[in-house]
Amino acid sequence: MKRTNLHWQILTALALGVGAGLIWPEGTRLPGGIHPFAVFDFLGTTFLRALKMVIVPLLAGSIISGVAGVGASRGLGRMFGKTFGWYITTSLMAILMGLILVNLVQPGLSNGVAVGQRMGLTEASPELAAKLEGHSAGDIVMILQRMIPSNPVAAAADGQMLPLIFFCLLLGIAITGLPNNQKSAQLGFWESLFAAMMKITGWVIATAPIGIFGLMAKTTAGSGFAAFAPLARYGLTVLGALILHAAIVLPLLLRFGGRVSPLRHAKVMAPVLLTAFSTRSSSATLPLTMNTIEKNAGVSNRVTSFVLPLGATINMDGTALYECVAAMFIAQAYGIELGFGAQLLIVFTALLASIGAAGIPAAGLVMISVILEAVGLPLEGLAMILAIDPILDMCRTAVNVWSDSCGAVFVARSEGESEILK
Ligand code: ASP
Repeated sequence: MKRTNLHWQILTALALGVGAGLIWPEGTRLPGGIHPFAVFDFLGTTFLRALKMVIVPLLAGSIISGVAGVGASRGLGRMFGKTFGWYITTSLMAILMGLILVNLVQPGLSNGVAVGQRMGLTEASPELAAKLEGHSAGDIVMILQRMIPSNPVAAAADGQMLPLIFFCLLLGIAITGLPNNQKSAQLGFWESLFAAMMKITGWVIATAPIGIFGLMAKTTAGSGFAAFAPLARYGLTVLGALILHAAIVLPLLLRFGGRVSPLRHAKVMAPVLLTAFSTRSSSATLPLTMNTIEKNAGVSNRVTSFVLPLGATINMDGTALYECVAAMFIAQAYGIELGFGAQLLIVFTALLASIGAAGIPAAGLVMISVILEAVGLPLEGLAMILAIDPILDMCRTAVNVWSDSCGAVFVARSEGESEILK
């Protein structure tokens, strides 16, 4: 399959998926006893499983060989600094963009009246309450502590990204300091594991249009569009802020910080962003992101294998922005006025919540409870924004992955790489 055609194929699959989902909503039965929903579910789930299959070995192979291959740990420290610098700066910019827009648009008010009651603010369902229980501001300390796996193999088996990354970073650094004969055995193994995983990723990518058709059809068949109407202003505020951040702020940083054409980068990234959009998972998209950034954007393996796995886990501009707007919207809908101090607290907790959110669907939704608790807002407010979350999740996930990829290009350029997007 020609790579240049892939994003058209994915786009077509996306549109066909939405169409199929609308024509055959959940529960439809076709002649011969065929349930279209079951077919959509099968196609989408199979694709997701294939993507997830490669994540852990790809991640381990890429980080360990990447870090160990960098050699001198001084270079590594510098790259660490730049990567974190990019992640924190862009996430904060995203949050501020959300904060400005939500204060301007005030989606939680209608003609100056809080919309909460009109939207039928109800008690949180028992399932939601159970899901939220145990999420508090104390989580932030826990996030840091949980980075250290008590058992790295278990962390890998459970797909816990942050502890796995932490361990792989340590192992990579340790290998750097080994005597040459031991070092080359380890390095060779992890490098070839990584190369093999990239091959498998390529095969999985070839099936993306089919999988994405299934995922989109399943989402639309399940909920349709009707459920989203009352939340339009809130949703549009999030979308507007996401678009401003992704289409103006990040490209400007890329243009002037990385001295590359943002348009060319966007073209290369199109299939990846569409995949992020339809899988709603930065982690599941990671194999594709790495493959594309290395093979098509020309970023070195050294930078790709360090910046992207870390980014998929801790850098979530879209999620950070969304956390902030959602918390502010809930406050407005309840008629609660938040002063400067409370808004600052929201900014800070939104940043931490986005770092702590896993790269999986709806992770950001659950993390809002951390902010609501920190600021003292009612958790029931979450019930209001549930209906529209899947769509916003798609958009914020695409922005999360877009920012990771821009970070990789930025760091590579600042490391003196000149073959990028040529
Ligand atoms: N789904 C998002 C991601 O994987 C996380 C979130 O829910 O905000 O990037």
